[in-house]
Amino acid sequence: MAMIQRPKGTADMLPAQAYKWHTVEKLAAETAEQYGFKEIRVPTFEDTGLFVRSVGETTDVVQKEMFTVSATGDDTFTLRPEGTAGVMRAVVENGLLNEAFPQKLYYITSCFRHENVQKGRLREFHQFGCEMVGSADAKADADVISMAKSLMDRLGLENIKLNINSIGCPKCRADYQKALREYFAPHRETLCDTCKERLEKNPMRLLDCKSPICQGIAKDAPLIVDYLCEDCDAHFKKLQKYLSLMGIEFDINPKIVRGLDYYTRTVFEFIAEGIGAQSTVCGGGRYDGLLEELSGKQVPALGFGMGLERLIMTMEQQDREFIEAKTCDLYIASMGDDAADKAMAMTMELRDEGFFVEYDLMGRGIKPQMKYANKIGAKFVLVIGSGELETGTAMLKNMASGEQTEIKLDSSFVDSFSNALMAEMFKDIDGEVEALLGKE
Ligand code: ATP
Ligand code: MG
Repeated sequence: MAMIQRPKGTADMLPAQAYKWHTVEKLAAETAEQYGFKEIRVPTFEDTGLFVRSVGETTDVVQKEMFTVSATGDDTFTLRPEGTAGVMRAVVENGLLNEAFPQKLYYITSCFRHENVQKGRLREFHQFGCEMVGSADAKADADVISMAKSLMDRLGLENIKLNINSIGCPKCRADYQKALREYFAPHRETLCDTCKERLEKNPMRLLDCKSPICQGIAKDAPLIVDYLCEDCDAHFKKLQKYLSLMGIEFDINPKIVRGLDYYTRTVFEFIAEGIGAQSTVCGGGRYDGLLEELSGKQVPALGFGMGLERLIMTMEQQDREFIEAKTCDLYIASMGDDAADKAMAMTMELRDEGFFVEYDLMGRGIKPQMKYANKIGAKFVLVIGSGELETGTAMLKNMASGEQTEIKLDSSFVDSFSNALMAEMFKDIDGEVEALLGKE
């Protein structure tokens, strides 16, 4: 039988991998909330026009990478290729622009792009993103960058480089675009077809082209930093000052333009050294024109998107620790129908008290039950059969030490088990304390 396989560029997240995601998602949410960001959830698909308008018609994302779906009828929708557009639509649509500024929002979601699949480049991938609405101050830029940095520090990542740039505002960009057109015009015929089009519509996009030929030509192109207007230049200098005050190291990379059209002024990337070609773990910047485009109101905003696959890949490569999934506290093995009923009742009671307890769901004999308990790594096993039911006591076996203690099967068993589990947990801590004391 021909098996149906998952679509190219998607991944199955099995339990052996999912716990790593929990670690990252938990820390991301905690860090964001500590910085005053609140979670927002928006639809997976939006009107195609939203992305065309906000991400930009001449971007790779809109030109080549959108997954557009149509339902019966005429509407076409697009699976979100990035998080910002949908969140800004929601901000406008739900009146959040009338609330106190800055509005600070974060999300952890999947994104969809029809990409050439490579390591670190998928068609369904995941982003932790944050958006800050309402502040034009360079402090906001520094604050958002420091949140991203703080998360990566908390995850224990090393060798992450921050690159920043300013791509100015529409005012200073006009001169820059002109200079770019003049620079690229003599090379027009050598450029790739997409870039020929970009030359007319949006020459800055040429700098973001992945073709080695276009990149070669772009090598000596004029730099935006030389064209910044006074205000944009002052904003960029302030950002650098604030980052330095925060003790955040950075490099200015005048070549960063970012792949989305809505950026203005600050753009930044965090690069993980040594994870291969797809090394940008986080990209972001300011998009002071986007809300006006969507709502008619001039409201500055900024944010970033962090690629979770690349983040986890980096953590794995750097041997960072993930929070292990919880393991079973107790497996109640049973022999015979009456004992099985008792095992079920005890399991329910212990679960209500918050313990992680399992019992036989397969109708197995005692030996395979013990084998299973071992396999799932149960900390304790309790065996009950007709004898135990008669005496009202059973042996609780500590699987790590092999030690057995008799416990009563009456209403005191929850407490007895709780004590045994505590003793086991504290044993580890006692050991650590002894080891520490011993070292001194
Ligand atoms: P790249 O230059 O790698 O294509 P991008 O500029 O398209 O990145 P953004 O749109 O800024 O990326 O998205 C933010 C982050 O999301 C990236 O820095 C990266 O970590 C992650 N990301 C983007 N596209 C993908 C993808 N196809 N697969 C996995 N992660 C991705
Ligand atoms: Mg891309």
